[in-house]
Amino acid sequence: MTPMTLNDDNDEMTLNDEMTNSARRLLETVCDPEIPVLTVADLGIVRDVRVLDDGTLEVVITPTYSGCPAMNVIEVNIRAALQGGGFERVKITTVLSPAWTTDWLSEVGRRKLRAFGIAPPAETSADKRALLGEPRLLECPHCGSKNTEMISQFGSTACKALFRCLDCREPFDYFKCH
Ligand SMILES: [Zn+2]
Repeated sequence: MTPMTLNDDNDEMTLNDEMTNSARRLLETVCDPEIPVLTVADLGIVRDVRVLDDGTLEVVITPTYSGCPAMNVIEVNIRAALQGGGFERVKITTVLSPAWTTDWLSEVGRRKLRAFGIAPPAETSADKRALLGEPRLLECPHCGSKNTEMISQFGSTACKALFRCLDCREPFDYFKCH
């Protein structure tokens, strides 16, 4: 005799856990459209993954930059990855509060940014000087020199500023603090 397990709460929990775990693994493959080396997991924008009562998978995200057109692309990519992985019903909920800060970037994400030639955020969002837009001394991601200058408040996108290294002469993007 095999006992019925359908109504067993523990087994239901396990099934939900399996679903959210496999969803999180799929999310680790979704990249930021602007910085393709970064996944949504690296960015830290996925706040929650849960299974609703009707079996819909809900993903709660907080946009990195409100008004950043890339966020729509990220939503589309998240949905595509999950549906490609067998999740038929996917709901993406955007939560604006608390607001995303660059503090949420994972260590892996910071290393990847540097390897990609983008200087990761140098200070935490608590640093008010960053909010006032004061130029900072940034380390060149190419050669490590601190002899750098800001060329433009806006780099290849509004989320980045453009810097130049005065030693190796290479320009680089700086992922702006938020
Ligand atoms: Zn350099």
